[in-house]
Amino acid sequence: MEDENKTALSVQSGVEQPPTLSADAVSRFKALRQKPLTTEAFVAGILRGDITILSKAITLVESALPVHRAQAAQILEQCIPHSGRSIRIGITGVPGVGKSTFIESLGGTITAEGHKLAVLAIDPSSERSKGSILGDKTRMEELAANPNAYIRPSPSAGTLGGVANKTRETMLLCEAAGYDVIFIETVGVGQSETTVHGMVDFFLLLMLAGAGDELQGIKRGIMEMADSIAITKADSGNEAKATMAQAQYKSALHLFPGTESGWIPRVLTCSSVHKIGLAEVWQAAKDYLHHTQDGGFWQSKRNQQAMDWLHQSIREGLMQHFFENAEMRNSLDGFEQKVMQGLVSPYNAAQELLSEYFGK
Ligand code: GDP
Repeated sequence: MEDENKTALSVQSGVEQPPTLSADAVSRFKALRQKPLTTEAFVAGILRGDITILSKAITLVESALPVHRAQAAQILEQCIPHSGRSIRIGITGVPGVGKSTFIESLGGTITAEGHKLAVLAIDPSSERSKGSILGDKTRMEELAANPNAYIRPSPSAGTLGGVANKTRETMLLCEAAGYDVIFIETVGVGQSETTVHGMVDFFLLLMLAGAGDELQGIKRGIMEMADSIAITKADSGNEAKATMAQAQYKSALHLFPGTESGWIPRVLTCSSVHKIGLAEVWQAAKDYLHHTQDGGFWQSKRNQQAMDWLHQSIREGLMQHFFENAEMRNSLDGFEQKVMQGLVSPYNAAQELLSEYFGK
């Protein structure tokens, strides 16, 4: 035995290491993992700002399982009276314009002021391809570690009920959990900015300076939607270009018809890396809020958004019911073949399928 102890192969008795997690934390974590939470427990957890429970509730919202959807609907119903009291800001811009750096930087300022910030991201790329514009790099590391910030990437593509509704529902849960500033980030390359515009109070467009002709490649529609524009990366010798771009966008905005709210969109320059001009962007959002709340526009916009949400939910519910119906899927398969063979027009095929559906 003594000889064995002298070899490197024997196990020497060492100092016992304390557990890395307290026994109490471990048992709470296990309990949370094992027992499905009741709706009451979800709501209570969300209302006291418990991030673990909030994240689990959002996972239910995003789930395709009917049993999850049903519980998510109950949770939402009880959270809605506690929601709505935040400033909702949409942030868009092409990949590389500096969205995540901007959100990280401004997010730090906002949370230091005592706000609680939730950042939700809609990534349109994942709807079409498996690739992701937003999610393939380490983003917002500081903000992710900030106890007053909560970051949630977009639900995966192909989820039932549509990404837009999931994001809306996620936003409401975050508000009920006490987040009073919501950023919804989207890449300005697809349809998603229209969707985001339809669910926020203030829509911010981030733009690059000096990328050739300043107004080239910018969709007029997106510029028209913007409540303010911020030219990013106004630092490191790029300041003059940024100021020039600012003047050009200002005069371009003059060509658009006046906004319904009477708000004049601001064009600002900023540097997220050097934290210059960010306070002005934040001030623009706050001024916009005061301006629109005083004039009653803010409430009517939120009412209109609620109506749009209602109608969209009806459309999605109808489509889901139609496409998930086994008999209708069967008939649809048949008609798809006929349409492809040119035996029936798509319009007539749709009419026949709908009569079959509503005739049931
Ligand atoms: P996103 O794709 O729109 O989220 O853009 P990112 O935030 O990832 O930024 C793209 C690149 O621009 C990164 O290399 C950043 O470091 C850089 N960047 C972002 N903001 C600034 C800024 O204010 N100044 C400078 N000089 N570079 C920046």
